[in-house]
Amino acid sequence: MAKYIFVTGGVTSSLGKGIFAASLAKLLQARGYRVTIQKFDPYINVDPGTLNPYEHGECYVTEDGAETDLDLGHYERFLNIPTSQANNVTTGRVYQTVITKEREGAYLGKTVQVIPHITDEIKRRMLLLGQTGEFDIVITEIGGTVGDIEALPYIETLRQIRWELEEHDTLVCHLTLIPYLKSAKELKTKPTQHSVKELQTIGVRPDILVCRTEMEITDEMRKKLALFCNVERDCVIQALDVNSIYAVPIEMQKEKADLTVLRKLQLSAEKPIDLTKWNEFLEKVRNPKGEVRIGLIGKYIELQDAYKSIHESFIHGGAANNVKVIVESVHSEHLDESNVHEALRHLDGLLVAPGFGNRGIEGKIVAIKYARENKIPFFGICLGMQCAVIEFARNVLGMKGAHSTEMNPNTPHPVIDMMEAQKKIKNKGGTMRLGAYRCDLKADTLALRLYGSEHISERHRHRFEFNNTYLEQFENAGMLASGKNPDNGLVEVVEIPGNPFFIGVQYHPELKSTVDNPHPLFVGLVKAAMEFKAALKTTTVKETVNA
Ligand code: GLN
Repeated sequence: MAKYIFVTGGVTSSLGKGIFAASLAKLLQARGYRVTIQKFDPYINVDPGTLNPYEHGECYVTEDGAETDLDLGHYERFLNIPTSQANNVTTGRVYQTVITKEREGAYLGKTVQVIPHITDEIKRRMLLLGQTGEFDIVITEIGGTVGDIEALPYIETLRQIRWELEEHDTLVCHLTLIPYLKSAKELKTKPTQHSVKELQTIGVRPDILVCRTEMEITDEMRKKLALFCNVERDCVIQALDVNSIYAVPIEMQKEKADLTVLRKLQLSAEKPIDLTKWNEFLEKVRNPKGEVRIGLIGKYIELQDAYKSIHESFIHGGAANNVKVIVESVHSEHLDESNVHEALRHLDGLLVAPGFGNRGIEGKIVAIKYARENKIPFFGICLGMQCAVIEFARNVLGMKGAHSTEMNPNTPHPVIDMMEAQKKIKNKGGTMRLGAYRCDLKADTLALRLYGSEHISERHRHRFEFNNTYLEQFENAGMLASGKNPDNGLVEVVEIPGNPFFIGVQYHPELKSTVDNPHPLFVGLVKAAMEFKAALKTTTVKETVNA
């Protein structure tokens, strides 16, 4: 049977429960254990697919097409194993299951209540992955903060699971904040004591305290925290602020978090820990040999989390090339023909982001025109690819007013159009083309050179597609469909062979980039940006010499 570790949060949100869970999982994995992580979110949406990125950051999509919380991205990037629909559960999904069962008559004659019906359904889902035989350890992150009304059923379920299973089969790690008061020049433990008290009123005593802090906590404070929060002395773990999330596993290792967890779960710590690859990666992130500047053109740039996986993919792609990628966010709503040169001239590459709706579209198209004409390395993802197609139609093929029917249903040239299968769908939740689909790459293309394999599979999240009735015209004019779905012929990759690096993909490569497997398209874009920068330097030097 699997062992279960629960991660709860106290004092405030945004303490990095997801990163802690992923880091602990990484250490346990590096000791030879098969680990998975799941997240339970207390909101009523059935999944985050219908949320605006401003609300909850990026929506992460799994292989099996689940629209999930962005923490699942961290789990995959750290562990290098895919997650699935079962790894993310929301209150909405739990209630949906219970209410559907109630309508079917599964509880005939009974009053359906939070306890036991909702908690039983939460319990079933919490234990599910541990019962597959695929994992030794299941880490469950509970979203929200202890004390929130909506988190209560989850904590109650966790109490019951602790009561039902053997003591050494479960563990609760409680993540809290130790604030530093500038005026008193002191770190404060009281909020942590209060949040542990809050947990204990519901009957859950945490085994391990993970204390987020901006300064080292002293031995004296560790003793105090242990005594007043009722945990063993070595169970107070410091989580010091670090400059890269990828350093957190190493910090946790210094704190012996893995050894403490294994001891409490009565699991062997005999196998030596192997973090060689991870440390090599971290070394490259911390000591880059150069830098490139890439513009991320999007409309949700005020919020870093909106393009989380893209930012992380750049870190992976940079490390693979031994350089730091400085990602400069450019608001597409502020771009037009008059300012595009000033805004983008200093950049070594451009990525046009995914998105929905009309806002900021024309700015994206202007940026793509600038990249195409000046042969700046360009990479378009999903809507970014669709904009590249629209730009090409308007400015190369001379199709005035060409557009996607998402933005203009009456366009005279619908070069991007709604997929046939989408036309009848009315519901919004979970109804896009989602998850992994196959794609075949053409010979002698940039895409094939980058992937090094003809048959690939990538994850999707969209309703619109390249309109194949225009394909011949595009290919004759120099934009090639270099990747297609072999089952239905949908265009998945476009490129302009006349440019050194100009590629757009209908899928989301950023969802598959991990520390162990940086995504080839990001590695390729960064490399192209380095070459572009180097070539630019030589021409500038030549020009100065000749002048
Ligand atoms: N809005 C576009 C579509 O639905 C692109 C989606 C995206 O960028 N994820 O096809």
